[in-house]
Amino acid sequence: MANNEDKLKKIVAHAKEYGFVFQSSEIYDGLAAAYDYGQYGVELKNNIKNYWWRSMVQFHENIVGLDAAIFMHPTTWKASGHVDAFNDPMIDNKDSKKRYRADVLVEDYLLKVEAKIKKEVTKAAKRFGDSFDEEQFLNTNPRVLANKAKMEDIKKRLYSAMEDERLSDIKALIEDLAIVCPVSGSRNWTDVGQFNLMFSTEMGSLSESAGKIYLRPETAQGIFVNYLNVQKTGRMKIPFGIAQIGKAFRNEIVARQFIFRMREFEQMEMQFFVRPGEELKWFEYWKEQRLKWHLGMGIPESEYRFHEHDKLAHYANAAFDIEFNFPMGFKELEGIHSRTDFDLKSHMEHSGKKIMYFDPELNESYVPYVVETSIGLDRTFLAVLTYAFTEEKLEDGSERVVMKIPPFLAPVKAAVLPLVKKDGLPEKAMGIFDILKKDFMCFYEEKDSIGKRYRRQDAIGTPYCITVDHQTAEDNTVTLRERDSMKQERVDIAKLPEIIAKKLK
Ligand code: ATP
Repeated sequence: MANNEDKLKKIVAHAKEYGFVFQSSEIYDGLAAAYDYGQYGVELKNNIKNYWWRSMVQFHENIVGLDAAIFMHPTTWKASGHVDAFNDPMIDNKDSKKRYRADVLVEDYLLKVEAKIKKEVTKAAKRFGDSFDEEQFLNTNPRVLANKAKMEDIKKRLYSAMEDERLSDIKALIEDLAIVCPVSGSRNWTDVGQFNLMFSTEMGSLSESAGKIYLRPETAQGIFVNYLNVQKTGRMKIPFGIAQIGKAFRNEIVARQFIFRMREFEQMEMQFFVRPGEELKWFEYWKEQRLKWHLGMGIPESEYRFHEHDKLAHYANAAFDIEFNFPMGFKELEGIHSRTDFDLKSHMEHSGKKIMYFDPELNESYVPYVVETSIGLDRTFLAVLTYAFTEEKLEDGSERVVMKIPPFLAPVKAAVLPLVKKDGLPEKAMGIFDILKKDFMCFYEEKDSIGKRYRRQDAIGTPYCITVDHQTAEDNTVTLRERDSMKQERVDIAKLPEIIAKKLK
């Protein structure tokens, strides 16, 4: 655990030092759970967006894009259920004055019980050696069985209390489990209350009748309310999808763990409209497609895990998360949800507009069913940083930090570096920069020793460094250094665009 927390701390520090992510409003001591993306962060973020957009919109003849406004008519959020039900149960500790999500306190407790089970397994594996059968142990050891039963019982109590909004039962559960505040160590809790996660503001000047509106807590509703517009103007035939990337806002009770849980974040969502009855087939299809997308970044499959929801939202008939092995452990990165016809039907009722599809093959009209894929851009960014961050000991005893960012996502593709600041080398290097910049994000630097400049490029994940030296003037060749292997080779300037392009494929 300590090591993993350490890794997160290192990533946060590195992200700041090298211009990936800054705390928002840092000069005023920061604003909690809001972050700014710096000069390299914005490049990486744009590259991830682009990868998602291309794989969704460009690669599917039946998916189109959308960019809806963040402000939406307030009835949208009544129809979607967010005004009434987008709540988290919160509880305060009277001694520390800290606020917690009541369900998260219980879930953290469950993690501790799970850790106990894991400890038993590790101990037994040591004791029994090669003859150890984990499966059998898990199914027969009395202590493990007791802990498993305890977990099941707690989950049942928590989820049914959450489902029926029995807040006093959630508090009773916290008391029965003797959960203490991690800060004060006391059990002096307030009652559990509901806390709506939507930010609200007012639209219109004071002289007009001011209307309360919300900052959207998800991008999906912008897609639903435009379903008819897009379907009609795009002459879309079911099955088809609408994809959108944009900001979402949630007043998270506990916002921590860097860009994993923010109050302002970005989502990449796609709603796929299908015939009723065919949604589970498409649900399976999108589960597979989305995992492929993640693996397409070159991150190994062992870093991902599927998690089937124990508790389905009232509108869903299947839901599934793709979890990533973040420094804090496996946590949700993307959700794939079969949302039935809940949203379109509800908008139809609230707006009085007929939101239906006439299916020429079936010769009937229906409200389409929806399969949604919803991924957090910032969490994907953190996943890439987590995977890429590498501390290496080199043969000569020195150390380097290298960001092994998949080359096609790297903020800078090539750095052009004149060996010295004289003898016409800077001019020659600038000439190469001017050629390459038309196709690739490049970087030019002449200050400091070449070794230091290489290290800085390693730290931001630049796949190639191109060094211009005295020989360049004679034969138009440069030294090309590759980030991961640190191998250097002499290549023709004319070949550079092709070599770099190949690396980014
Ligand atoms: P969680 O359980 O972690 O709060 P969620 O189930 O509420 O997440 P969804 O509503 O399914 O999340 O949102 C889809 C995706 O948006 C998530 O998989 C996640 O990647 C991202 N996301 C949600 N909330 C946040 C947040 N506060 N900060 C950053 N990303 C978020």
